[in-house]
Amino acid sequence: MASNPLQITLLGATGSIGTSTLDVISRHPAHYQIYALTANINAEKMLSLCEHWEPRFAVMNDENSATELEKSLRNKGLSTQVLSGESGLLQVVEDKAVDCVVAAIVGAAGLLPTLAAAKQGKRVLLANKEALVMSGKLFIDTARENDAILMPVDSEHNAIFQCMPNCLTEQHSSVKMANSTGAGIERILLTASGGPFRTWSAEQLHDVTPEQAVNHPNWDMGRKISVDSATLMNKGLELIEAYWLFDMDISNIDVVIHPQSVIHSMVTYNDGSVLAQLGNPDMRTPIAHALAWPQRIESGVEPLNIFDVAKLEFEKPDLQRFPCLRLCYEAIKTGGSASTVLNAANEVAVEAFLHEKIRFNDIAVLIEQTLEQAEITQDITSLESILEADSMARVISNEIILAKH
Ligand code: NAD
Ligand code: MG
Repeated sequence: MASNPLQITLLGATGSIGTSTLDVISRHPAHYQIYALTANINAEKMLSLCEHWEPRFAVMNDENSATELEKSLRNKGLSTQVLSGESGLLQVVEDKAVDCVVAAIVGAAGLLPTLAAAKQGKRVLLANKEALVMSGKLFIDTARENDAILMPVDSEHNAIFQCMPNCLTEQHSSVKMANSTGAGIERILLTASGGPFRTWSAEQLHDVTPEQAVNHPNWDMGRKISVDSATLMNKGLELIEAYWLFDMDISNIDVVIHPQSVIHSMVTYNDGSVLAQLGNPDMRTPIAHALAWPQRIESGVEPLNIFDVAKLEFEKPDLQRFPCLRLCYEAIKTGGSASTVLNAANEVAVEAFLHEKIRFNDIAVLIEQTLEQAEITQDITSLESILEADSMARVISNEIILAKH
């Protein structure tokens, strides 16, 4: 392991992935150092993180929160420098002193800093799947051209990475594994827990409340991804994520419902082998792997007791009850800006559902209507075109919601 500690910028430090990342890092102070922490509005939580980690920079996306943090830090005599907004986020990503950027902001808000990290050729630990879903080819090309090491943190993609042949992963990070099919890989089996409503009927799904939706049976996560897991949109976004990360034809990626969440995904080979990565459902495992690869470090996760697991079940997903997954398959086939539009519409829909403006089943309806009304373009290679498609989709989705009220 390198003698100098790796300097880390943690985007989304106050969130669920941010907290797990700090827990792993706290176990290896000689190897990892926090250079900058960022958050949206929670200045109080950021203050306690700064007291503990003493980063060089703390960035609040919200200006008022930055002012509040600045005051509290000075009162306590702490020297962390406070920055704000997009320019602050970009500064702590692009800083030459930074080796590694953990991209754990939720949603489209993470695109700019995550893309900037790839452009600077950093080691990028990608949790923020929406950034990749909305920018697809631009993101992968940027990472490749600038020799970024793109490490998947999403547990399924990290599992797939771990099941890939050494000859591909030892020299290259996942992003450079162009044409993985050439290495005897036949299929990727992307596992899904099925979420809290796996066995519910369409009628029961109609009455789902936000509280029920954010209460995931196996994983403890932020609110947005918890709703995505309940609609299976999370698995759809992950399908798009796998398509870009592993350069796999979409017809060779299967979604497998596996309610125990013990197998985190599988890769099948042309000799009949199926490789799987197993472990307790705890994000500290993929985070530790992505931080230390190609080495391994202790993560704080309890070893899996295979006798406690006892039973592993597998089912096909039901695209009728969970249409979000179907919409994601269709968006990949349509190509161009379809995934960008889908992601934006989903963010608007989840927010509206959490504020009880629309029902659970309306999430998929709203996304489908937005995809029908939006102009889908195949010319989506620049950041400007991606941001334009994103904001246009948000306008359409919000208009549809307003028209119904
Ligand atoms: P979270 O809601 O717990 O945390 C989100 C973080 O992003 C917070 O620190 C928040 O301050 C920051 N943030 C939110 N809006 C922002 C904005 N506009 N500008 C700047 N910062 C902003 O979310 P999470 O569960 O930690 O998920 C983070 C990302 O990781 C998501 O993309 C999610 O899909 C992905 N992910 C999460 C898990 C998990 O177990 N939680 C697993 C796999 C992937
Ligand atoms: Mg996942």
